[in-house]
Amino acid sequence: MAVPEDKERERVYKVVLLGNSPVGKTSFVERYVNNRFRDTCELTIAADFAVKVLHRNGDTIKLQLWDITGQESAAQFTSACYRGAAGCIIMFDLTDRQSFKDVRKWKLDLDSIVRNRGKNLPCLLLANKSDLGQRCATIDEINAMSKDNGFSNWIAISVKENKLVSQSMDRLVDILIAEDVGNDVEERSDNECDGSLLELKQFAVA
Ligand code: GDP
Ligand code: MG
Repeated sequence: MAVPEDKERERVYKVVLLGNSPVGKTSFVERYVNNRFRDTCELTIAADFAVKVLHRNGDTIKLQLWDITGQESAAQFTSACYRGAAGCIIMFDLTDRQSFKDVRKWKLDLDSIVRNRGKNLPCLLLANKSDLGQRCATIDEINAMSKDNGFSNWIAISVKENKLVSQSMDRLVDILIAEDVGNDVEERSDNECDGSLLELKQFAVA
């Protein structure tokens, strides 16, 4: 009798995207998931959600990308969205010094709310808009920001020119697989964030 092949495993990883507005978080998800770029800027209300399916070594990887607003006023809603996350991306804009300075605040915020098996989540630091040819921080400063705040790594990218976008996600997925952290993540319909999101949308409409 033939031996059945190993059943393909499915892993679900929830990844949250953080950083000030408008560093390019929504554009990053749009580029990564749909390979599109828009020059217009639309404010994200609370959080948006996208899924990208990858195949690695015979396994299916479902990435849930949570694009969370950078607005202070939504802070109490967005922190609920961190729950169940397996990994994180914190983004700043290479032309905006304040967005770089605030990276530390975002990382501390995340680490104070969500841990997995007693450890901080794997987190990548992305320096976006490299196409504009400006650098609001020196390489040494970015290295220090990355190291001192426990980032896995940092990468300069351009969502506009599609430079190192999918490669940076690949890097994060490699880390998630190596740490095998995401398998107990709930599907979105069970996620507590939905209630908060709905509330905020109603609040925004009122
Ligand atoms: P968010 O607030 O962080 O979600 O930022 P958005 O994704 O809405 O982007 C804000 C603005 O930055 C938009 O006008 C985008 O077109 C622009 N943008 C995003 N990524 C890049 C990039 O890599 N290069 C340049 N030049 N502009 C970008
Ligand atoms: Mg946005």
